[in-house]
Amino acid sequence: MLGNIANRYAVSDSACEKDDAMHNRVVVLSLTMATVTALAVGRLAGQGTAPELQLVTRAADALGGRDRLMAVKTLQIVGYGELAYFNGGGNITGDPAAPQKWQKVLEYTRTIDLEHWRTRVQQRLKMDFVFASTAGQLGLNRTNETLDGDIAYNIGGGFLAPPQTGTPQPQPAGPAAARQRRVELLAHPLTIVRAALDARSRLSNLRKQGDLQLVDVTVRQGDTLTLAVDGTSNLPASVSYVGPNANLGDVTYRTAFAGYVPEKGIHLPTGLTTTIDFRNVVQSKLYIDRNIVDAPIDDLSAPASVRSAPPLGAPAGGTATPQPMKVADHVWFSNGNTFFEFDDHITMVEANRQDAALQATLEVVNRLVPGKRVTQVIQSHHHFDHSVGLRAAVAEGLTIISRRGNEGIFRDMVARPARLFPDALGRNPKPLKFIPVDDHLKLKDSTNEIDIYHVVGNYHMADGVLVHVPASNLLVEADLTTQNWDFNWWGDSLMNNIEYRKLEVATNLSVHAQKPFPLAEVVAAIERQVRNTQAFCRRAAEAQFFQPGCPIQYNRPLPPVSN
Ligand SMILES: [Zn+2]
Repeated sequence: MLGNIANRYAVSDSACEKDDAMHNRVVVLSLTMATVTALAVGRLAGQGTAPELQLVTRAADALGGRDRLMAVKTLQIVGYGELAYFNGGGNITGDPAAPQKWQKVLEYTRTIDLEHWRTRVQQRLKMDFVFASTAGQLGLNRTNETLDGDIAYNIGGGFLAPPQTGTPQPQPAGPAAARQRRVELLAHPLTIVRAALDARSRLSNLRKQGDLQLVDVTVRQGDTLTLAVDGTSNLPASVSYVGPNANLGDVTYRTAFAGYVPEKGIHLPTGLTTTIDFRNVVQSKLYIDRNIVDAPIDDLSAPASVRSAPPLGAPAGGTATPQPMKVADHVWFSNGNTFFEFDDHITMVEANRQDAALQATLEVVNRLVPGKRVTQVIQSHHHFDHSVGLRAAVAEGLTIISRRGNEGIFRDMVARPARLFPDALGRNPKPLKFIPVDDHLKLKDSTNEIDIYHVVGNYHMADGVLVHVPASNLLVEADLTTQNWDFNWWGDSLMNNIEYRKLEVATNLSVHAQKPFPLAEVVAAIERQVRNTQAFCRRAAEAQFFQPGCPIQYNRPLPPVSN
């Protein structure tokens, strides 16, 4: 319901067809004669006798009655909320006990046009923890995401987009976004009960769970959602559905409804909580300030420019051919990934590309040295933007090398199924092969020698590793900085680690960088970012809008600004 733009990953829509096929089998098993009669006669007549339809009718009555529900033309839901950063994959470690980092959802409005089956979510997202960009720390961008029937489109560049000039034009968002927006729209009592009453939907698999009665609703587009109805009040208690996730495979979302209040003759919830089946992470919370029924709304129809746009291709990065550059003997760098040649194999840094993009990378790198293929990947840390290709890497048979503390979450990620929305690992499940790093692991043969070190004293990642190449004075790291960050809240970490390990470093290879940078340039960027962060904290304190992380902690000398 929240319109989860931050944690969403693109998928192919063909998965929906498999979804449909799978549920067809379920329906065959549970379809009783009574259901058939109800579908054929009762539902056309407006009052069913099948127990599934009776349940939905009771829920409709509790909400205000079928006729009232079907007469509603528009609903606007206004409020604010919170989103679990990276679905629980962005915390200080991958330990389930690590405290959840949250993004604040501000100025949230969902507009629903029930007559035309359109919806729009507008919101600001603001990191409620220390991170790199001004837009993210302050929530500068108001996102605008719309679904018109089967067409999804966005206005504006997303919550981390750089500042824009002029009026942003609507852009198509693709079929995967359309599917996601469709099921999120249905995770609300009014929309799910209306969909369940629609004669084109299929109801099946009535069952009890404690004080709840559950029924599966397969809507005309083929998505199946589970409606849970409270056995006492007959009000909808929750809606569950499955969606794809690059880090986690199939994820089941359950949106629970609380605090029903009457509004123009229907009962609507004032609180929504969505929980996922990965560690039972509370994925989002929505606090509703107002449910507005049948007020005038904007026209949400997809403009002609969106309707006539060519279909979106593969997800970004999926087809670009990487061109590795040689940065030292037996070391290459390409688009953030570093590759080390050893006697009989190649070891890369970071599984941060999904199936097709990782395959494209491996295809090129496996041709660099005849007879040598990538067999290992060093994983800098667990954060889900960095481990988004972990499942793809395991599917390719690669061994994962990382800090020992990441093994648990990596095992959890790899063990999860992807049946409804298959990825490479879902189609061909394999176990995780894992080599742990405690403080230091040296990989050395007659071709190459690299040192993998625990990143000590870093408050962005407690279980990070970096790589040093003694022969060429290269350092490979992730998230210690990137040249274009606005802020760096752990700016002392890079040089503290270099000094602690007594490393000679000339060149820095960052996972988030497109090319190598001399260490001096990296340090200059960090010092600029630290000064920016100090100024940010001062501004916030003066305005009495106190920010997470302020005052910034920085334990190195900060030279005066040059030039
Ligand atoms: Zn990170």
